[in-house]
Amino acid sequence: MRYQESKEQSAELLRQVIALMGQHDAPFNPISFTVWYEYVSGINAWLTQAVAKALLTEKRLSSATLMRLYQEGVAEVNPSAMVKIANELQQTMIGMGEQALRTAQHAGQFGEQLDGLNTALGSSDVAGVSTLISQAMEGTALMRSSVGELEQQVAASRKEINRLQGELERARDEVLQDPLTKVLNRRGFDEKLAVLVGVASEPGRCHGLVMLDIDHFKRVNDTHGHVMGDRVLQAIGEVLRSCVTEKMHSVARFGGEEFAILLPNTSLDQCVKMAELVCQRTRAMRIRDRRTNEVVLSVTISGGVAVLQSGDDAQRLIVRADSALYQSKKSGRDRVTCACA
Ligand code: GH3
Ligand code: MG
Ligand code: MG
Repeated sequence: MRYQESKEQSAELLRQVIALMGQHDAPFNPISFTVWYEYVSGINAWLTQAVAKALLTEKRLSSATLMRLYQEGVAEVNPSAMVKIANELQQTMIGMGEQALRTAQHAGQFGEQLDGLNTALGSSDVAGVSTLISQAMEGTALMRSSVGELEQQVAASRKEINRLQGELERARDEVLQDPLTKVLNRRGFDEKLAVLVGVASEPGRCHGLVMLDIDHFKRVNDTHGHVMGDRVLQAIGEVLRSCVTEKMHSVARFGGEEFAILLPNTSLDQCVKMAELVCQRTRAMRIRDRRTNEVVLSVTISGGVAVLQSGDDAQRLIVRADSALYQSKKSGRDRVTCACA
């Protein structure tokens, strides 16, 4: 269950939620209630960050902002995308059903014609037989074309259903993707890690986690502004996507200027190498002024590597990778520490 709070705990949260709802412009509706509830209870790390970010530019959050936060951080899939897909699927099914009904009606008529022909053949009415034969031949042609149309309709529906399935997957991916950096968001990361924790790795391999944090990122914002800060985050997203190319590996924005790479069934050596590759490519990255093409800044990133051990839950793995990351920060930044020894 998403909400684990007791009645007493939730009553306290309710008090805080109502206070917050009063301070902002969005109406008191279930959408804004859910966003504020998840925010004050701290159960949704992505949402907590996103609300904090929205508050930087909007002192009183509007209905539109609350709706966006709900859609990006709470709803399983964008509700309007779901309605559209469901309607299209319904239309496809109706089309196929109508054609099947027409074919069934033609088959019924054809059956009656054959019955008539059978009766005529058994009687002495030879004159009537020739008319019935030509009617039955017409019926055969009609049946053939009707079955052909049904086949076409089924093939078209199958194609349409495949397309809708793709759209549904894309809608789901969008919910799990960080819009700025185009890597998984925190929710996508949590889902992947939860699956990983439940599956044993193959002998000689491990499930690795690399935590990464941009060095002195606050300075970037302070010196060059938030917009440039966002561009650095985007560029780091590109660096990460260029490093993590194996399908089974995944990269996520853990929150703010922190990223994570999940490396299921990988050798420890490869996990460390991956973290080092990210450090190296980040170091080599140059952010340029879009108008003058001049290099404006460069950044470095620190990494911590940990591997899943028996009895670990997701939280313990994250904590170990985080402490390794902290070691990298303490010992000078722009380096990787492994908590694996
Ligand atoms: P350290 O090397 O110890 O990690 O130092 P730091 O400055 O990177 O760490 P600190 O935690 O002090 O600052 C992180 C900064 O990241 C502060 C915050 O404003 C910024 N930040 C977090 N999310 C975003 C974002 O989405 N966009 C921008 N531009 N800045 C962000
Ligand atoms: Mg940080
Ligand atoms: Mg940092």
